Amino acid sequence: MTTVPPEPAPPAVEPGTETIVAPAAAASVENAVLAEAADVVEGALDAREEEALENLDNPRRLLLVHAHPDDETTSTGVTMARYAASGASITLVTCTRGEEGEVVSPDLAHLTSAGDAALAEHRMQELAAALEALGVEDHRYLGDPGEYRDSGMAGTPSNEHPQAFCRTPVDEAALRLVSVIREVRPQVVVTYDPRGGYEHPDHIQAHRVATRAVDLAAEDSVAGGEPWKVGKVYWSALPESLVREGLRRMRAAGDEGFGELDPDGELPFTTPDAEITTVVDGRDFFDAKLAAWRAYPSQVSLDTPFLRMAEDPREFWGREYYRLARGRAVPDSDNPDGRETDLFAGIA
Ligand SMILES: [Zn+2]
Repeated sequence: MTTVPPEPAPPAVEPGTETIVAPAAAASVENAVLAEAADVVEGALDAREEEALENLDNPRRLLLVHAHPDDETTSTGVTMARYAASGASITLVTCTRGEEGEVVSPDLAHLTSAGDAALAEHRMQELAAALEALGVEDHRYLGDPGEYRDSGMAGTPSNEHPQAFCRTPVDEAALRLVSVIREVRPQVVVTYDPRGGYEHPDHIQAHRVATRAVDLAAEDSVAGGEPWKVGKVYWSALPESLVREGLRRMRAAGDEGFGELDPDGELPFTTPDAEITTVVDGRDFFDAKLAAWRAYPSQVSLDTPFLRMAEDPREFWGREYYRLARGRAVPDSDNPDGRETDLFAGIA
């Protein structure tokens, strides 16, 4: 995470000093050095504790659980940017480093064969740059970075990798998330639906882990920190009507993008409009989302049919949609479609 001050550097030890200083004096020098180091560490801890407490004072705390670098931008980018700009505390947990994501930029094709470490390192840097564009400071990987590996698309050999996130016992990963939930105490958690949106094994697993962690975090019997009950859980959603309209518009314009999708056929990655409870209007933050996408040259091309689904991409991608999975919906009476317009409605 970038919100805590960097670890203080260990006190420098000058080589050879122990040979010139007498033993008693050496001990007192050592004590002085240790005392100074302790002061520095204490100062850093105080600052960290202070910051943690300040975050807990924030009446609006949002936690998002995503599977890979770039998912946060694509599914929830304007939401994060909008709430960050309004002063909410935002924490993003990313479960893997995207080791199996396709490298789309020819300039970065070398990363495909460079091995996990190089690609993962590259994607971590991209994610950090994207979060800067979105104004989000608190980011963690689930466990140590690289603890869980991108499982790749369903049915591919990478599903069998020993560290594949989809193979992780749900409770083990959920307990790691419990400690984040108990630390940042979010009123609202955002993740995927049980199908993981488009049935990527890591998205399905992220859904399971987040759901389980929300339950476990509230349990007195689960050790480690104070229990915390999350008020609302949302699943990110793409409204069916919006995607159908977008595809029809593309077909009418002779655009071959997403040619395998029939505007009148099955669209299992979408959510029926009637099930969508909540819309976040982040059109004013669409530029931040675009900037965050641009931070991902290895995996996002802006020459994508995604951005051609509406005449003005801001209208399509500047609003993000959700299904309330837990908690009580508080519809916005000013909103003609009767949906909530604020994830924190009824809470803060
Ligand atoms: Zn993903």
